[in-house]
Amino acid sequence: MAVTPLSPVSSDALTSLDTQLTGEAIAYEHPDYDRARRVWNGMIDRRPALIARCADPADVVACVNFARVRELPLAVRGGGHGVAGHALCDAGLVIDLSRMKWIEIDPDARTARAQGGCTLGELDRETQRRGLAAPLGVVSRTGIAGLTLSGGMGWLRRKHGLSCDNLISAQIVTADGRLVTASDDENADLFWAIRGGGGNFGVVTSFEYRLHPVGPEVFVCFVLYPAERACAVLRFCERYLDDAPQELAPIAILGRVSNAGDFPPEARGQPYVGLLAPYAGDAAEGERVVQPLRELGEPIADLSDVMSWTEAQAMLDDDYPVGWRYYWKSVNVPELREEVIERLVQHAAAAPSPHSTIDVWYQGGAIARIGEQATAFANRSEPYLLGIEGNSEAGAAAEENVAWVRETFADMRSLCGRGVYLNFPGFLEEGEELLREGYGTNYERLRELKSKYDPTNVFRLNANIEPMKGGR
Ligand SMILES: Cc1cc2nc3c(=O)[nH]c(=O)nc-3n(C[C@H](O)[C@H](O)[C@H](O)COP(=O)(O)OP(=O)(O)OC[C@H]3O[C@@H](n4cnc5c(N)ncnc54)[C@H](O)[C@@H]3O)c2cc1C
Repeated sequence: MAVTPLSPVSSDALTSLDTQLTGEAIAYEHPDYDRARRVWNGMIDRRPALIARCADPADVVACVNFARVRELPLAVRGGGHGVAGHALCDAGLVIDLSRMKWIEIDPDARTARAQGGCTLGELDRETQRRGLAAPLGVVSRTGIAGLTLSGGMGWLRRKHGLSCDNLISAQIVTADGRLVTASDDENADLFWAIRGGGGNFGVVTSFEYRLHPVGPEVFVCFVLYPAERACAVLRFCERYLDDAPQELAPIAILGRVSNAGDFPPEARGQPYVGLLAPYAGDAAEGERVVQPLRELGEPIADLSDVMSWTEAQAMLDDDYPVGWRYYWKSVNVPELREEVIERLVQHAAAAPSPHSTIDVWYQGGAIARIGEQATAFANRSEPYLLGIEGNSEAGAAAEENVAWVRETFADMRSLCGRGVYLNFPGFLEEGEELLREGYGTNYERLRELKSKYDPTNVFRLNANIEPMKGGR
């Protein structure tokens, strides 16, 4: 077996790991090496010593033991959609779960078990065969693993909560190489920690979710207004949600009309404010409920329609091609004051890339009904989350885009923003202060549990919680 020039371990050692695996070990000279080290974000270019495409939990145990004993950098790859690219590392070992895609549905109990390499779309496809759905995110190619471990916010969030709120149990390989169950009844502290604590506590080999009846058809509101209507549109939506059924969980998008898709030619390039929301209940009822959101002035385009739940879950997929250059940040804002909205409109219009957007996630509902310390996921009572997405094409220079995201983020924070959602900010250059805000009031307990379950910080390539010196 060949080794990368950067590898701190010998070829013999890597071969010894290879012989223990049922799955595949991909090192530097493997013909698939360059494909295997590619992740969704084209800004990430890392060269691991070995990528272990695990076939089962025993493979994961072997990899964790191998990396811990040799103090090797260890990365964990679920769906490879983490914005910061922590799914890869230089000169270390990658536990790649992309082969582990087994799914089992219990339609009577309304539960699903899914292995850590599944994408949202793969799980949605299976659950929808039984008319059910797990609360997941809004792009079907994202991995369930990273998404769930740091929260998981999608169209069902106001009705049923986050992905992590719908977790019943997980199988997890801890830093000492044990495969354990985490649930309310077994290792309850670990179960608390993985519902918001990200990849800090081990490698989750499978997740068990609570499912809900959804679909098969839903009504999707997708209406675009000129950006100068932003204040009226966002404020109306805010008021409307006070009494609207929680099946409605919109995202407001500020951007510029794309050259692709079904938009009228004269609208292309025009700054818009859009409202996007599948109604996660009866389709006819959904059309009625979203109607007021479609009457907020003369729209640029109204593409609202009935579609299947799986189509609704995938309708944003093409906006995020693999290999483009992405730089994202997020910040919670306590209220959508006029000044905040005006500044958002200005920032969105100034974005150097036509593919960049600022997204306003309306939160509340089931997210906020769960106690702040009931799971590790923090900042539950924040009403709005801004996702600032710098998206540029594969060949484009990213610097201007990165500067735009940073500037917008800094401006929002200086105005009123606080806290971050740890699934969106890929790059936490702001350091520990921001990390602490992301984990909020749960940070100290998370640190204690990190010291208990991973005292030497084997799992550190993530939004890392440092263990206390000397363990717990
Ligand atoms: C196009 C796109 C759309 C998105 N939409 C949403 C959305 O609608 N809602 C939302 O909440 N988030 C969304 N996100 C953010 C997304 O939840 C995170 O990027 C998440 O980390 C992706 O998970 P992954 O498994 O694909 O990522 P990976 O890059 O594979 O993993 C990210 C990190 O998660 C940890 N991890 C992954 N797998 C495991 C495992 N099995 N065990 C332990 N740790 C693990 C590791 O620390 C890893 O570095 C989106 C991201 C993208 C790129």
